[in-house]
Amino acid sequence: MKIAFIGLGIMGRPMAKNLLSAGHELVVVARRDEVRAEFEGLGATAAATPREAAEQADLVVTMLPNSPEVREVALGANGVASATREGLVLIDASSIDPLVTREIAAALAHQGMVMLDAPVSGGEPGAIAGTLSFMVGGPEETFDTYKPVLQSMGSSVVRVGDVGAGNIAKLANQAIVAVNIAVVAEALVLAQKLGVDPAAVVQAIQGGLAGSNVMNAKGPMMLDHRFDPGFRVALHLKDLTNVLTASHEVAAPMPLTAAVFELMTQLKAHGHESEDHSALLRVYERAAGTHLGETSAT
Ligand code: NAD
Repeated sequence: MKIAFIGLGIMGRPMAKNLLSAGHELVVVARRDEVRAEFEGLGATAAATPREAAEQADLVVTMLPNSPEVREVALGANGVASATREGLVLIDASSIDPLVTREIAAALAHQGMVMLDAPVSGGEPGAIAGTLSFMVGGPEETFDTYKPVLQSMGSSVVRVGDVGAGNIAKLANQAIVAVNIAVVAEALVLAQKLGVDPAAVVQAIQGGLAGSNVMNAKGPMMLDHRFDPGFRVALHLKDLTNVLTASHEVAAPMPLTAAVFELMTQLKAHGHESEDHSALLRVYERAAGTHLGETSAT
């Protein structure tokens, strides 16, 4: 299949390489010369605009930062929608506002094009290994046709519902992860202040109901103050902004998520937005005047 790939960043580059490895023909729209040259060296061709790429591809895949970029690439001047390709499918793997996804899908439908939203979890390591989890929204028959393409970039590909449902699942994912990280940090700082070794607390409770994938992945990072990303605070703030925009739109109050959004904003204010989101621990440590691992006076 000839696939146009747009958005060759941290995630998009390894995803596009996995499509090449799976035997697909690739046409890329790359903003940076070195990325274009890299992909040409791997056998891909380059197009100057999303429209030019869409004119020659059977499928367009996008992996862009946020809603405005996806809107621009899909619907802007020289966007995918300006190609005369009735029946063309756009799979957007970016994490964006699901209400914007629905708006873009409706505009594409006017041109006879179909959209799937397919945001991912798994981060850069999952993108490199081809083990991403895709949460997909869109028509079932389109999903069935293109599922094998997603399976060449991921190990879990689940259709959640109609278009926008993938991003709604991703918003739920990001809210759950954010609140989970915050309460792990909160509880470890409590243990520290009460004079108990936080590492021993993690060991004692991680096999019980309080244990979680978040505690397993982020607990050791917090205990070691090792905050290299991982998943950057800046990206999580972007996702939580989308969570709160969507929740306000439909009046589904999310007080816990809103509180964690403010805590992450404090991290940003102190210059930590490029660190892993487990750096939320810093906010609690600053507030409580302590530091995990510090010898306690109590
Ligand atoms: P990134 O900033 O590294 O990459 C985005 C790419 O899009 C860049 O190469 C940029 O040049 C390109 N781009 C932006 N506007 C463009 C345009 N108009 N035309 C062509 N290219 C354009 O971001 P990333 O980390 O790869 O994340 C991409 C998406 O995946 C985001 O929505 C993010 O939230 C999501 N995501 C990221 C991770 C992660 O760990 N990084 C994990 C899961 C999901």
